[in-house]
Amino acid sequence: MGFVFGPVPSRRLGLSLGVDLVPPKYCSYDCIYCQVGATTKRTIQIKDYVPLADVMEELRQRLSLCNPDVITLSGSGEPTLNREIGLIIERIKEVSDRKIAILTNGSLLWKEEVRQRLLEADIIMPTLSTAVEATFNRIHRPHPELGLPKVIEGLRSLKKEFRGFIGLEVMLISGLNDRDAELRELKQVVDELEPDQVQLNTVVRPPADASALPLEGARLEEIEKFFGAKARIISHNRRERQGSGQVSLRDSVLEVVKRRPLTASDVARVLKAPLGEVEILLRGLTRKGDLTERRHGHSVYYVAKGS
Ligand code: SF4
Repeated sequence: MGFVFGPVPSRRLGLSLGVDLVPPKYCSYDCIYCQVGATTKRTIQIKDYVPLADVMEELRQRLSLCNPDVITLSGSGEPTLNREIGLIIERIKEVSDRKIAILTNGSLLWKEEVRQRLLEADIIMPTLSTAVEATFNRIHRPHPELGLPKVIEGLRSLKKEFRGFIGLEVMLISGLNDRDAELRELKQVVDELEPDQVQLNTVVRPPADASALPLEGARLEEIEKFFGAKARIISHNRRERQGSGQVSLRDSVLEVVKRRPLTASDVARVLKAPLGEVEILLRGLTRKGDLTERRHGHSVYYVAKGS
């Protein structure tokens, strides 16, 4: 157990229920900005990393407790390393009508077998942060058998074959890939790839390497204009500038309770948060009038205002 996490409000996907398809931290990259931490096993070996039956059992249980907008295959590493990802998509579609999203670094999309496995997903969000090989190597520290031309080739093929939504993530790091000349080269490639959306991100959570620094909000906004109508800033910086702040445990609690009445233990289990912390938050939200308590049998359920 421990393959399913959330649902948590996601800036890109709405309320997202995550499924972890590789153990920490198997990845084909070792990105300097990674929020999961340093890659302990840098690999491009495709195999069955997690037991499919256990993943599906946990997912079914979690879906009986919540109603996410999307089921996201991601994890503490690169999900396309999992050979069964196509089968998992198929099984999820049998038990849920929620959209299925794949968060991938895109490094293995040049392999036809990998692309084929993803074709039944609804949303694919691969990463392309630079069109300059030296910068690519500095940012992603890829497995030695990977290179930027292969990654771009994979994205090109994906665009031809995939009928769903492609949100291309561009991770921007101060002083590394944010210079005008670099961005011009990247834009040429992005324009040719024609993703549905260009998602501009920066380092908003503690990175694996402390040298990975975020861009200022004003610079992100300049880059958003430069990339044109399909570009959208997805990092927290703009939201913080606008005063809405990061997605917090409080927001997550409100989101899950809004969907259906839950006890404190349900909420703690769904959000994988400490029960004590959740109880304090629920009591605070009840005092403020955002939630009400309803007794049913021996249990206290929390209900969102207006439900
Ligand atoms: S690809 Fe994703 S999981 Fe892998 S090192 Fe980079 S940020 Fe971390």
